Amino acid sequence: MTGAPTTNGLSLALVVAHPDDDAYGMASMVALHAEDPGFRFILIHATDGGAGDIREGFPATRETLGRIRQQEDEAAWRALGRMPDRHDWLGYPDGEVDQVPFDELVDAVAAILEEEQPTVVGTSGPDGISAHPDHIAIGAATDAAFARHASTSGTAFRRLLHSAIPNSVFERWQRQRAEMGMELFDPTQVYHMRGIPDEEIGLIVDARSVAHRTVAGLREHKSQHHVMSNDPDDVESWQKIVSRDWAVVWWPERAPGTPVLTDPFEGLP
Ligand SMILES: [Zn+2]
Repeated sequence: MTGAPTTNGLSLALVVAHPDDDAYGMASMVALHAEDPGFRFILIHATDGGAGDIREGFPATRETLGRIRQQEDEAAWRALGRMPDRHDWLGYPDGEVDQVPFDELVDAVAAILEEEQPTVVGTSGPDGISAHPDHIAIGAATDAAFARHASTSGTAFRRLLHSAIPNSVFERWQRQRAEMGMELFDPTQVYHMRGIPDEEIGLIVDARSVAHRTVAGLREHKSQHHVMSNDPDDVESWQKIVSRDWAVVWWPERAPGTPVLTDPFEGLP
Protein backbone atom coordinates (compact mmCIF):
# COMPACT_ATOMS: atom_id res chain seq x y z
CA MET A 1 0.00 0.00 0.00
CA THR A 2 1.04 3.55 -0.47
CA GLY A 3 0.49 4.93 2.97
CA ALA A 4 -1.77 7.70 1.67
CA PRO A 5 -3.53 9.37 4.58
CA THR A 6 -7.28 8.89 4.65
CA THR A 7 -9.27 11.95 3.82
CA ASN A 8 -12.12 11.95 6.31
CA GLY A 9 -14.45 14.52 4.84
CA LEU A 10 -11.87 16.18 2.59
CA SER A 11 -12.67 16.95 -1.03
CA LEU A 12 -10.85 17.25 -4.32
CA ALA A 13 -12.05 19.32 -7.28
CA LEU A 14 -10.46 18.69 -10.68
CA VAL A 15 -10.93 21.37 -13.33
CA VAL A 16 -9.86 20.35 -16.84
CA ALA A 17 -10.45 21.29 -20.46
CA HIS A 18 -11.32 18.01 -22.19
CA PRO A 19 -12.64 14.53 -21.53
CA ASP A 20 -9.48 12.41 -21.03
CA ASP A 21 -7.47 15.26 -19.40
CA ASP A 22 -9.02 13.98 -16.16
CA ALA A 23 -8.03 10.39 -16.90
CA TYR A 24 -4.29 10.86 -16.56
CA GLY A 25 -2.36 11.95 -13.50
CA MET A 26 -4.89 13.24 -11.07
CA ALA A 27 -7.23 10.29 -11.69
CA SER A 28 -4.83 8.22 -9.63
CA MET A 29 -5.19 10.69 -6.74
CA VAL A 30 -8.94 10.08 -6.86
CA ALA A 31 -8.40 6.31 -7.01
CA LEU A 32 -6.08 6.42 -3.98
CA HIS A 33 -8.80 8.11 -1.90
CA ALA A 34 -11.85 6.63 -3.60
CA GLU A 35 -12.99 4.62 -0.59
CA ASP A 36 -12.04 7.09 2.16
CA PRO A 37 -14.97 7.97 4.44
CA GLY A 38 -16.49 11.29 3.46
CA PHE A 39 -14.16 11.85 0.51
CA ARG A 40 -15.90 14.04 -2.07
CA PHE A 41 -14.80 14.31 -5.70
CA ILE A 42 -15.91 17.23 -7.88
CA LEU A 43 -15.14 17.27 -11.62
CA ILE A 44 -15.45 20.21 -14.00
CA HIS A 45 -14.95 20.03 -17.77
CA ALA A 46 -14.70 23.20 -19.85
CA THR A 47 -15.56 21.40 -23.12
CA ASP A 48 -16.94 18.10 -24.41
CA GLY A 49 -13.89 17.55 -26.62
CA GLY A 50 -16.06 17.62 -29.72
CA ALA A 51 -13.32 19.09 -31.91
CA GLY A 52 -10.87 16.30 -31.07
CA ASP A 53 -9.35 13.81 -33.46
CA ILE A 54 -11.51 10.92 -34.54
CA ARG A 55 -9.54 7.70 -34.71
CA GLU A 56 -9.61 6.02 -38.09
CA GLY A 57 -12.48 3.58 -38.24
CA PHE A 58 -14.06 4.89 -35.03
CA PRO A 59 -17.83 5.30 -35.41
CA ALA A 60 -18.14 9.00 -34.65
CA THR A 61 -18.82 12.09 -36.69
CA ARG A 62 -17.96 15.71 -36.01
CA GLU A 63 -21.56 16.08 -34.79
CA THR A 64 -21.55 13.09 -32.44
CA LEU A 65 -17.99 13.16 -31.07
CA GLY A 66 -18.69 15.53 -28.17
CA ARG A 67 -21.55 13.42 -26.82
CA ILE A 68 -19.52 10.24 -27.32
CA ARG A 69 -16.58 11.71 -25.41
CA GLN A 70 -18.85 12.72 -22.55
CA GLN A 71 -20.09 9.13 -22.39
CA GLU A 72 -16.52 7.84 -22.57
CA ASP A 73 -15.62 10.07 -19.66
CA GLU A 74 -18.45 8.70 -17.54
CA ALA A 75 -17.50 5.16 -18.51
CA ALA A 76 -13.90 5.91 -17.56
CA TRP A 77 -14.74 6.90 -14.00
CA ARG A 78 -17.07 3.90 -13.71
CA ALA A 79 -14.19 1.65 -14.82
CA LEU A 80 -11.85 3.31 -12.34
CA GLY A 81 -14.44 2.51 -9.69
CA ARG A 82 -15.26 5.98 -8.40
CA MET A 83 -17.83 8.23 -10.02
CA PRO A 84 -17.58 11.97 -9.39
CA ASP A 85 -19.95 13.13 -6.66
CA ARG A 86 -20.57 16.12 -8.86
CA HIS A 87 -19.68 16.56 -12.53
CA ASP A 88 -20.26 19.86 -14.37
CA TRP A 89 -19.81 20.43 -18.10
CA LEU A 90 -19.31 24.14 -18.74
CA GLY A 91 -20.17 23.64 -22.42
CA TYR A 92 -17.57 25.86 -24.06
CA PRO A 93 -16.53 24.98 -27.63
CA ASP A 94 -13.56 22.65 -27.79
CA GLY A 95 -10.48 24.51 -29.00
CA GLU A 96 -11.91 27.91 -28.14
CA VAL A 97 -11.65 28.07 -24.35
CA ASP A 98 -8.95 30.72 -24.67
CA GLN A 99 -11.44 32.88 -26.58
CA VAL A 100 -14.02 32.89 -23.78
CA PRO A 101 -13.85 36.25 -21.96
CA PHE A 102 -11.54 35.52 -19.06
CA ASP A 103 -13.82 36.93 -16.36
CA GLU A 104 -16.68 34.79 -17.65
CA LEU A 105 -14.52 31.68 -17.44
CA VAL A 106 -13.35 32.55 -13.93
CA ASP A 107 -16.94 33.18 -12.79
CA ALA A 108 -18.12 29.85 -14.24
CA VAL A 109 -15.46 27.90 -12.34
CA ALA A 110 -15.76 30.02 -9.20
CA ALA A 111 -19.53 29.51 -8.96
CA ILE A 112 -19.07 25.75 -8.64
CA LEU A 113 -16.06 25.97 -6.34
CA GLU A 114 -17.92 28.37 -4.07
CA GLU A 115 -20.78 25.90 -3.71
CA GLU A 116 -18.48 22.99 -3.10
CA GLN A 117 -15.75 24.53 -0.92
CA PRO A 118 -13.19 21.91 -1.98
CA THR A 119 -10.17 21.23 0.22
CA VAL A 120 -7.81 20.78 -2.72
CA VAL A 121 -8.20 21.93 -6.33
CA GLY A 122 -6.25 20.47 -9.24
CA THR A 123 -5.97 21.91 -12.73
CA SER A 124 -3.54 22.64 -15.60
CA GLY A 125 -0.47 24.81 -15.16
CA PRO A 126 0.86 27.57 -17.42
CA ASP A 127 2.73 24.95 -19.48
CA GLY A 128 -0.54 23.15 -20.18
CA ILE A 129 1.47 19.86 -20.33
CA SER A 130 1.21 20.25 -24.12
CA ALA A 131 0.75 24.04 -24.32
CA HIS A 132 -2.80 23.37 -25.53
CA PRO A 133 -4.45 26.82 -25.34
CA ASP A 134 -7.59 25.25 -23.78
CA HIS A 135 -5.50 23.70 -20.98
CA ILE A 136 -3.70 26.96 -20.28
CA ALA A 137 -6.94 28.99 -20.31
CA ILE A 138 -8.91 26.73 -17.96
CA GLY A 139 -5.89 26.46 -15.65
CA ALA A 140 -5.48 30.24 -15.45
CA ALA A 141 -9.20 30.70 -14.82
CA THR A 142 -9.13 28.10 -12.07
CA ASP A 143 -6.12 29.79 -10.47
CA ALA A 144 -8.06 33.07 -10.44
CA ALA A 145 -11.22 31.43 -9.07
CA PHE A 146 -9.18 29.70 -6.35
CA ALA A 147 -7.37 32.91 -5.43
CA ARG A 148 -10.67 34.48 -4.39
CA HIS A 149 -10.95 31.95 -1.56
CA ALA A 150 -7.46 30.63 -0.86
CA SER A 151 -7.23 29.90 2.84
CA THR A 152 -4.58 28.81 5.31
CA SER A 153 -7.10 27.32 7.76
CA GLY A 154 -10.28 25.29 7.77
CA THR A 155 -11.13 22.59 5.24
CA ALA A 156 -11.68 24.65 2.07
CA PHE A 157 -9.33 26.06 -0.57
CA ARG A 158 -6.21 24.87 1.24
CA ARG A 159 -4.10 23.79 -1.73
CA LEU A 160 -3.98 24.39 -5.48
CA LEU A 161 -2.20 21.84 -7.65
CA HIS A 162 -1.05 21.99 -11.28
CA SER A 163 -0.49 18.78 -13.22
CA ALA A 164 3.06 18.61 -14.50
CA ILE A 165 5.77 16.32 -15.82
CA PRO A 166 9.28 16.67 -14.36
CA ASN A 167 11.96 17.17 -17.00
CA SER A 168 13.86 14.08 -15.80
CA VAL A 169 10.81 11.94 -16.61
CA PHE A 170 10.15 13.77 -19.85
CA GLU A 171 13.73 13.15 -20.99
CA ARG A 172 13.35 9.44 -20.17
CA TRP A 173 10.19 9.29 -22.29
CA GLN A 174 12.04 10.99 -25.12
CA ARG A 175 14.87 8.41 -24.93
CA GLN A 176 12.30 5.60 -24.96
CA ARG A 177 10.59 7.12 -27.98
CA ALA A 178 13.94 7.40 -29.76
CA GLU A 179 14.73 3.75 -29.00
CA MET A 180 11.34 2.73 -30.40
CA GLY A 181 11.92 4.77 -33.54
CA MET A 182 9.10 7.15 -32.67
CA GLU A 183 9.00 10.84 -33.39
CA LEU A 184 10.23 12.89 -30.45
CA PHE A 185 8.10 15.51 -28.75
CA ASP A 186 9.21 19.02 -29.62
CA PRO A 187 8.49 21.09 -26.49
CA THR A 188 8.67 24.28 -28.52
CA GLN A 189 5.58 23.23 -30.49
CA VAL A 190 1.98 23.58 -29.36
CA TYR A 191 0.30 20.19 -28.76
CA HIS A 192 3.64 18.56 -27.95
CA MET A 193 4.30 17.27 -24.47
CA ARG A 194 6.82 19.09 -22.31
CA GLY A 195 8.33 18.92 -18.86
CA ILE A 196 9.15 21.47 -16.20
CA PRO A 197 12.26 21.75 -14.00
CA ASP A 198 12.25 18.92 -11.43
CA GLU A 199 12.75 21.33 -8.56
CA GLU A 200 9.39 22.95 -9.30
CA ILE A 201 7.56 19.68 -8.55
CA GLY A 202 6.00 19.84 -5.07
CA LEU A 203 3.97 16.63 -5.04
CA ILE A 204 5.03 13.15 -6.13
CA VAL A 205 2.37 10.50 -5.66
CA ASP A 206 3.20 6.80 -5.66
CA ALA A 207 0.19 5.50 -7.58
CA ARG A 208 1.38 1.94 -8.23
CA SER A 209 -1.33 0.43 -6.04
CA VAL A 210 -4.07 1.98 -8.18
CA ALA A 211 -2.39 1.89 -11.61
CA HIS A 212 -4.76 -0.86 -12.77
CA ARG A 213 -7.72 1.38 -11.92
CA THR A 214 -6.21 4.40 -13.66
CA VAL A 215 -5.53 2.38 -16.82
CA ALA A 216 -9.02 0.86 -16.72
CA GLY A 217 -10.28 4.43 -16.88
CA LEU A 218 -7.90 5.53 -19.63
CA ARG A 219 -8.95 2.59 -21.80
CA GLU A 220 -12.55 3.82 -21.84
CA HIS A 221 -11.53 6.92 -23.83
CA LYS A 222 -11.80 4.75 -26.91
CA SER A 223 -12.15 7.52 -29.50
CA GLN A 224 -8.78 8.90 -28.36
CA HIS A 225 -6.67 5.73 -28.10
CA HIS A 226 -4.52 6.73 -31.05
CA VAL A 227 -3.37 9.92 -29.33
CA MET A 228 -3.12 8.43 -25.85
CA SER A 229 -0.96 5.38 -26.32
CA ASN A 230 1.17 3.63 -28.91
CA ASP A 231 -0.49 0.36 -27.97
CA PRO A 232 -3.66 0.72 -25.86
CA ASP A 233 -3.74 -3.04 -25.31
CA ASP A 234 -0.30 -3.01 -23.69
CA VAL A 235 -1.81 -2.55 -20.24
CA GLU A 236 1.45 -3.33 -18.47
CA SER A 237 3.36 -0.46 -20.10
CA TRP A 238 0.46 1.88 -19.52
CA GLN A 239 0.35 0.97 -15.84
CA LYS A 240 4.04 1.81 -15.54
CA ILE A 241 3.45 5.23 -17.06
CA VAL A 242 0.66 6.05 -14.58
CA SER A 243 2.36 4.54 -11.54
CA ARG A 244 3.64 7.94 -10.49
CA ASP A 245 1.96 11.28 -10.58
CA TRP A 246 3.46 14.76 -10.29
CA ALA A 247 2.14 18.21 -9.54
CA VAL A 248 3.29 21.70 -8.79
CA VAL A 249 1.91 23.06 -5.52
CA TRP A 250 0.83 26.39 -6.96
CA TRP A 251 -0.65 27.60 -3.71
CA PRO A 252 0.43 28.02 -0.96
CA GLU A 253 3.83 28.88 -2.35
CA ARG A 254 6.49 26.42 -1.28
CA ALA A 255 9.53 27.73 0.51
CA PRO A 256 12.78 26.50 -1.04
CA GLY A 257 13.87 23.22 0.56
CA THR A 258 10.37 22.27 1.67
CA PRO A 259 9.97 18.48 1.49
CA VAL A 260 8.02 17.24 -1.51
CA LEU A 261 4.50 16.11 -0.62
CA THR A 262 3.52 12.51 -1.26
CA ASP A 263 -0.25 12.96 -1.20
CA PRO A 264 -2.52 15.84 -2.27
CA PHE A 265 -4.04 15.98 1.23
CA GLU A 266 -0.82 15.55 3.21
CA GLY A 267 -0.72 17.81 6.27
CA LEU A 268 -4.30 19.01 5.86
CA PRO A 269 -6.92 18.48 8.55
ZN1 LIG B 1 -6.88 18.24 -23.19
